[in-house]
Amino acid sequence: MDGANTANVAPVLILLGPPGAGKGTQARMLEEKFGLVQLSTGDLLRAAVAAGTDAGKAAKAVMEAGELVSDQIVIDILRDRLGDADCAKGVILDGFPRTTVQAEALDELLSESGQKINAAISLEVDDAAMVTRISGRYTCGSCGEGYHDEFKQPAKDGVCDKCGGTEMKRRADDNAETVESRLVAYHAQTAPLIAYYDGKGSLQKIDAMGSIDDIAGGLSAIVVKATA
Ligand code: AMP
Repeated sequence: MDGANTANVAPVLILLGPPGAGKGTQARMLEEKFGLVQLSTGDLLRAAVAAGTDAGKAAKAVMEAGELVSDQIVIDILRDRLGDADCAKGVILDGFPRTTVQAEALDELLSESGQKINAAISLEVDDAAMVTRISGRYTCGSCGEGYHDEFKQPAKDGVCDKCGGTEMKRRADDNAETVESRLVAYHAQTAPLIAYYDGKGSLQKIDAMGSIDDIAGGLSAIVVKATA
């Protein structure tokens, strides 16, 4: 770890990139490899929608439209989750922050606990490829392992390689029309964070157009260096 992050301060990594860049897939791989906790605000919001909480009710239509949920709702959800004991191991933020307001709130939250960001890693991809990537993806309903019609199929059709589950799920917002809105939201509200983290000296970029394993290798090298 660098100067401000001493050995007993848990690492904090951020994955930045448009929808379909592979943040979730890569965050899960890093979670397994480094014993960190993947924190996906998209997953937390989908759980809130499924549970019918007030936050979930407010977020549902916004998510279906491919727009960003209000900063306050997302920051509150993230703050709660960051307070859970398992996060003391260190976290990989996947899909948060997505606005400058969220980035500033994160800086404040971390400074309260004496932490800082080890690296904000931007997954660099072409927009044109994102629609194909997103429209083909699905996950195991039991363990959350991600698959893709074209790029990553389970060894046995319809059966999860990891847990043997047979219920596969596709996200309601993974359709061509909503993907367009999500990309617009990304460029308008989230892409400016690349300059934000560059200005703080924590930005790392990685070419994320290659194979899942190649990207994972490059990311691991960045994580090892950023948390050494
Ligand atoms: P994701 O699973 O990261 O693709 O997020 C799915 C949807 O959840 C997004 O399109 C947004 O509507 C919402 N969402 C997730 N994370 C955030 C965030 N940090 N800020 C605002 N909205 C978010």
